[in-house]
Amino acid sequence: MTDFFTRITKRLNELGVNIDERELAHMAKQCGAGRDALQLTEDLLTVIATRKMERKIATLRKFSRIPVSKRLEDFDFAFQPSIDKQYVARLATLGFVHEGENILLAGDPGCGKTHLAIALAEECLDHGMRVYYITMGDLAMKLLQAKADDKLARVLSNLMRPDLLVIDELGYDRMGVDAAELVFKLISARYERKSIIITTNYQISQWPEVFGSAALTQVIADKFIHHAHVINITGKSYRLRNVK
Ligand code: ADP
Ligand code: MG
Repeated sequence: MTDFFTRITKRLNELGVNIDERELAHMAKQCGAGRDALQLTEDLLTVIATRKMERKIATLRKFSRIPVSKRLEDFDFAFQPSIDKQYVARLATLGFVHEGENILLAGDPGCGKTHLAIALAEECLDHGMRVYYITMGDLAMKLLQAKADDKLARVLSNLMRPDLLVIDELGYDRMGVDAAELVFKLISARYERKSIIITTNYQISQWPEVFGSAALTQVIADKFIHHAHVINITGKSYRLRNVK
């Protein structure tokens, strides 16, 4: 019986109900609850906790703006031998998120950067963490718009909320120094606190072309790379795998 009281109390506490084992034992005794009643209680609480988590994850998934679901299980590591599967598997245990570390996924188009970034983001969602996906082009526009509307502080503080921010496609759009400065603000704000994954088909040495300023590139790259896991993918495009 004590085992039941321990487990039921634990579940109730997880669900935010403040009760201790003695209180529970007392209640069970008062209504003469036997093993069956306690088993039913435990099972029901498990169902409630599971449903609650499912609802939370569904909401977080919607909020994440992930454009299309990608899972790690569906990634063919054999096709892309330049990626260390064990290293990615370790990242998928999400220590990097707890530590506020970043990930840079670099490589040619079609080599799986977005797939891996989203797959890691989905691992976070599975664990009830907050995730937000945005392309670098949209991020630059969002920040410029926020500044123009005098809402920069609010937008930056919203972008601090996700445990993991995925910034996809650095390099597809060139940006002006104004936008690069705002991106720097965001990267600085999250520095050593909250994780960012950036995907890019540009070498860091080419980033000045993207950000339009060597000086800004230096400070952005410096902050971003300081605690970053860098994955350089040197393989072929998966999209073109059947093209001879
Ligand atoms: P990138 O972002 O590097 O341009 P994507 O991640 O968008 O490339 O990959 C292109 C398409 O190929 C996506 O549909 C992705 O799911 C798929 N893909 C890429 N690499 C792999 C892989 N190694 N195994 C399975 N699917 C892959
Ligand atoms: Mg991509």
